[in-house]
Amino acid sequence: MTHVRFNHAVNGVKVEGSEVIVHYNENNEVVSVNGRVNQAIADEAVDTSVSLKRDAAVKTALSAVSAPKDLTYEPTSEIVIYPFEGENHTAYKVNVNFMGDEPGNWFVFVDAKSGEVIDQYNGILHVEENKTQKGFGKGVNGDHRELHIIRTKEGASGTKFALADYSHENLDGIFTFDSKNDWDSNNDALYVGNSAAFIGDYDRAAVDAHYNSERVYEYFLNEHDRNSLDGEGMAINSYIHMGTDYNNAFWNGRYMAYGDGDGEFFISLSAGLDVAAHEMTHGVISHTANLAYRNQSGALNESFADVFGVLVDDEDWEMGEDIMAPAAKADGVTRLRSLSDPNSVVVSNPQRAAYGSGVYPAHMAEFYDMPLNVDNGGVHVNSSITNHAAYLIGQEIGREKLGKIYYRALTVYLTSNSDFSDARQAIVQSAIDLYGEGSAEQSAAVAGFDTVGIY
Ligand SMILES: [Zn+2]
Repeated sequence: MTHVRFNHAVNGVKVEGSEVIVHYNENNEVVSVNGRVNQAIADEAVDTSVSLKRDAAVKTALSAVSAPKDLTYEPTSEIVIYPFEGENHTAYKVNVNFMGDEPGNWFVFVDAKSGEVIDQYNGILHVEENKTQKGFGKGVNGDHRELHIIRTKEGASGTKFALADYSHENLDGIFTFDSKNDWDSNNDALYVGNSAAFIGDYDRAAVDAHYNSERVYEYFLNEHDRNSLDGEGMAINSYIHMGTDYNNAFWNGRYMAYGDGDGEFFISLSAGLDVAAHEMTHGVISHTANLAYRNQSGALNESFADVFGVLVDDEDWEMGEDIMAPAAKADGVTRLRSLSDPNSVVVSNPQRAAYGSGVYPAHMAEFYDMPLNVDNGGVHVNSSITNHAAYLIGQEIGREKLGKIYYRALTVYLTSNSDFSDARQAIVQSAIDLYGEGSAEQSAAVAGFDTVGIY
């Protein structure tokens, strides 16, 4: 098949994130069309006129990111409509790329009328090329881990070793950074040790983050022929020791961050291979379907992250079983979510629990109708319904085919505003594409979604 992505445009100006995909069969006939356009922009007139000169926009962008005189590439720019915080700006999207002490691959959005910076982010973190060697360490739960590391400095402080891995062809690298119990991820401090053996207590969270990142990278490469989160070899960056006793892990659009846990509810969150796979899948999603993180599309974002979480950490269908602290386990909290039996896990956040039965839902009849200011409309709760559908399908056709079907649905069919019903359609269609009309895989997908009440 051939899949063509169309970007929504107004007067020829592209709207960031608003798209439709058209699917053609081998005879170049249109088989299906899916996607969503930004309806607010479709309804309202957007003034796409530009009063700012390109040179002025580039100059503003350079100064916004404190760019040095020597740039790696000439800055590039295009005019886009950029929906940001409730407003639709006609803006220059300027890319600024440079090396140095603080390398940057910045995207800066400059309002094409007022000349003000609307938003900016650093896309990729570059680290100097280095030769990768073997090292090892001890993980949070005591596992011996082989690691890819580099030798960094020789001199007054002697030789040092850092958690940086340049061993994978066409990949910018896998890097693990130390947040040193701060919230500051801008220190760009690679995790460093005095020897190739990372076996101290403080090392354990870093060892698991570095090791698990490589396993997840290899899963997407080997199973889905996907080179890193963006499919183009972007660097995989993890920050560990984020905050103090922090009971969370997240993907912030650029890197993974792991708290140490408070020792009561969680231990170091990087100990969970399923947690690492979950966070990295958020990275894959943001480069593919880019499911908007609210209501049903947000619950799908969470659900796909959980599904690939359990496909990579393939010993069970539970999320977070390796990061629960002894006290939590003693209270019967042995995992965060269960794909096999969602109802067996209590929603521990009382504000969220108040909108439903108090346990994770397994069927649309148990859907939590939540406002946007609570868990973005239930993204971590209602995800259980589609999680359970995935489990049911997996029981029929196995993990490998489940992964192929879900990966195709995510990368070929889903778009930013897809809902549960769109997901059913995308997954059933992917099963048909891969295994044929009337196949057992198609029946399994249909039955899985029927059972959880998504039509
Ligand atoms: Zn998540």
